[in-house]
Amino acid sequence: MTRLRPPASTTYGLDNLPYGVYSVPGQTPRVATRVGGQVIDLTLLLGEDVFARPSLNAFMAQGHQRWAQVRARLREAVSGDVPDPAVHDLADVTLHLPFEVTDYVDFYASEHHAANLGRLFRPDSAEPLLPNWKHMPVGYHGRTASIVVSGTDIVRPHGQRLPADAPAGSRPAPEFGPTRRLDVEAELGFVVGVGNPLGEPIGVTEAERHIFGVVLFNDWSARDIQAWEYVPLGPHLGKSFASTVSAWVVPMEALQAARVPTPTQEPGVLPYLALAEPWGLDIAVEIEWNGQVVSRPPYAAMYWSPAQMLAHLTANGAPTRTGDLFASGTISGPEREQRGAFVELTWGGTEPVEVAGEPRTFVEDGDEVVLRATAPGSDGGRIGFGEARGRILPAR
Ligand code: MN
Repeated sequence: MTRLRPPASTTYGLDNLPYGVYSVPGQTPRVATRVGGQVIDLTLLLGEDVFARPSLNAFMAQGHQRWAQVRARLREAVSGDVPDPAVHDLADVTLHLPFEVTDYVDFYASEHHAANLGRLFRPDSAEPLLPNWKHMPVGYHGRTASIVVSGTDIVRPHGQRLPADAPAGSRPAPEFGPTRRLDVEAELGFVVGVGNPLGEPIGVTEAERHIFGVVLFNDWSARDIQAWEYVPLGPHLGKSFASTVSAWVVPMEALQAARVPTPTQEPGVLPYLALAEPWGLDIAVEIEWNGQVVSRPPYAAMYWSPAQMLAHLTANGAPTRTGDLFASGTISGPEREQRGAFVELTWGGTEPVEVAGEPRTFVEDGDEVVLRATAPGSDGGRIGFGEARGRILPAR
């Protein structure tokens, strides 16, 4: 038996207890939590077979009450004597995609991001936001199979794009080749623990009981492919080549101290989206580019709340399932150094940022981008979200 002694400064203390899936050589992947720099096997710690699986889905499907019970037991168990075979150093394990992603929607919930992209992509329009934006959390359906865990290399995608030197106002023929404008989008992803049957929407007040937890999410984006393909049906191959999630799912229960009101929603929303007190999350995100932090997007500035996103997603009766992932859309704050995508940070590539002494606009081969985040925890410190890391390999 062993006693865990996480340092007082850790962001993985007893108020965090995120869930992940790990393996060591010769063992199949299983569910674990993290305390300090150690990974704790939950099957051995709690003696429950639901954790002897390569994903969190079976546990998530057990529902909101079970999540609370297990969290309480877990908190007690990691405070006492822990069986030695359950404890591994983080450096000795492989972390896997923590849940089976059964569906994926990407929203567009930041007013600052939506307005910046409106100005960049529709410069002739007087209003940066489209007429629907303040009436619903807009989103598009993405591709689950290309969602990868942190640390997975990202191959620069090919696609259709217009020639770089096409004169404005002309109708040039597209080319097929590697993207020249590879970008990141710093987002949070919300994991649905228990879904809803077809035809039975999730009401906005009950939505939070369906959400299991939060991951970091990098929605890698090929801006030249996206710009050419997205009208009229929205993003497609410019996004679906890869998205990176963090290996740890921070349970919603760990984020009670991080709850904050959303910014004022004006004009008022339709009744199916109305909450007496719409809540967002005070989560401080940072984007590191080749070892240098270039932006600190504040999640607290997001206009639409997670509950509103889930209520909207199901408002037409669309079902969700355990493992459904809905991402927030790029997190951007009002300041330049709070922008969550490089197309915004460098204003369409016209205002390079200095990264490790070099001017950069979009992501180059060999570059590595890491998302990290912390939030206030319930014990007075902060809790961490792991990281969403990806390195770019040249196009094949
Ligand atoms: Mn996105």
